[in-house]
This record gives sequence, structure tokens and C-alpha cells, in this order.
Amino acid sequence: MGSVIAVANQKGGVGKTTTTINLAASIAKRGYKVLIVDIDTQGNATSGLGIEKSTIEYDIYNVLIDEIPIASAIKPTSSKKLDIVPATINLAGAETELISMMARETRLKGAIEDLGDKYDFVFIDCPPSLGQLSINAFTASQSILIPVQSEYYAMEGLSQLLNTIRLVQKHFNKDLGVEGVLLTMLDARTNLGADVVQQVKEYFGDRVYKTIIPRITKLAEAPSYGEAITEYAPSSRGAKVYDDLAKEVLKAHGKRLKK
Ligand code: ADP
Ligand code: MG
Repeated sequence: MGSVIAVANQKGGVGKTTTTINLAASIAKRGYKVLIVDIDTQGNATSGLGIEKSTIEYDIYNVLIDEIPIASAIKPTSSKKLDIVPATINLAGAETELISMMARETRLKGAIEDLGDKYDFVFIDCPPSLGQLSINAFTASQSILIPVQSEYYAMEGLSQLLNTIRLVQKHFNKDLGVEGVLLTMLDARTNLGADVVQQVKEYFGDRVYKTIIPRITKLAEAPSYGEAITEYAPSSRGAKVYDDLAKEVLKAHGKRLKK
């Protein structure tokens, strides 16, 4: 099995989906086979990678609830070597449906295990909540990558996230770890950002990535073209910073930098 990494923070709008798409695409561009599993009802990773709703036969809901084989839900994306298991609004019912189901916490884990060695990396784009879907993601993953927005309330909610990680470690996945903490959307024009960077580094120490993602307009534009930054603007600063992050992640996993 490849590495399974959940991208999570129950706060909305901190850069989970942007990071999932662009980190995954940067690693794929370096020659590794990568899968994104979209488990957010919003389906932002799905649409952001150019998947048209009308072309989706099976989505992650069908995999988790109807037990459709995950292989039949996989779609290629606009990036080479990057596939996705899409999410649609179907998923809205899953949180409550899962509650009464057998083996509810391990359904995603089972599905991802069915993939065997097909992918070097699997990234799970989590929803902005700590419900059954996130528990499924944490149970299925080796580690969690936590994007933190470089703003005043950055640390808010993180203790709750860490508590949930501990609970999952205790009950379902004792090897779960923190992959890394990523500072996102840093606004170079304010001092506030620098204070937050300091605060997050004091709390998480060397688990904070050296790469910090600035606020970059092209990163916000790319999804409306259905492309990762690696395709939309390959020589832009946005592509460069996510490639820097990809290098850190590959190194942490003992992988060669193929390019
Ligand atoms: P989440 O998945 O945590 O809800 P998103 O990745 O969707 O967060 O980001 C929230 C919004 O911020 C989106 O509109 C996205 O395009 C924008 N955004 C994310 N990262 C950046 C960035 N580094 N620079 C500019 N805009 C960004
Ligand atoms: Mg999102």
C-alpha cells in the first residue's frame, strides 16, 4: 500500500481542498501515481479537477454506503498520473446513514485497502466537520496533514482536532500520526501573518512545514478552469510553492525527487 494522508481541519476555508489538489498534482508531476478521495459534500476537489457532474456514474457515497468497488468510482483528472474518487451532493446523507451501519468507522479504510499497490499516495480531502466521514478518513490514514490559515483565529479549534485524532488513535488506528502542519494564505502585507506563523511554530515545533503558502490569486483561479496549478500556471509562484511542499512530503516519505 502507498501512503494514505488525510488533509483535515474542521474549519472551513483554510485551504484543505487547494492543498489537496495542488500537493497531489505536484507529486503526480514528479512521476508518482496519486489518488485523491473527495469526501466533502461540496465536491470542490472534484469540480476543481475538471470532473463534470454529469459524467459521474459512481461517487464516494456509492463506495461507502452501497459498497460499490472503489475501482469503479475512480476517474482520471486534468493532471497526468492523478486520479480522483469524486464526491457529489449525494454524500450529504452519509453522515447520518453511517451511524446505523456495520463497521461504520472502517468503511473508507476497507475501500482504500482494496486498491492494493495501485497508488504511491492517496490524499483524502476532508469536510469541515469532525463527523463520521472525518472519522472514516482518520481511520483509513497513516497521517493527517493540517492546513492552518495564517490569520488571527488560526489556532482556534485545533485542540478539538487533536482530541479527535487521539480518540481515533485509541479506538481504531493506533499508528495515526500528524504528517505536518501547513501555514496557508499568508498575507505578506500584514504583520498579523508573521505573529500567527510564530504562534503555530511554537505550538507544533518541527512538525510545521518550512514551506508556507502565501495568498496567491492564481491558486484561487485555477479551480474554475478545472485544473491544478501545475496545469493552469505551471511556471507561476503558486506552482513553485506547492512543488516545494511536495519535495518536503516526498523527502519525509523517503521518496526520490524524480525531477
Ligand atoms: P477548504 O477546503 O479548507 O474549505 P479551500 O481550499 O477551498 O479551503 O480554500 C478556501 C478559499 O480560499 C477558496 O476560494 C480558495 O480558492 C481560496 N484559497 C485557498 N488557498 C489560497 C491561496 N494560497 N491563495 C489565494 N486563495 C486561496
Ligand atoms: Mg474543501
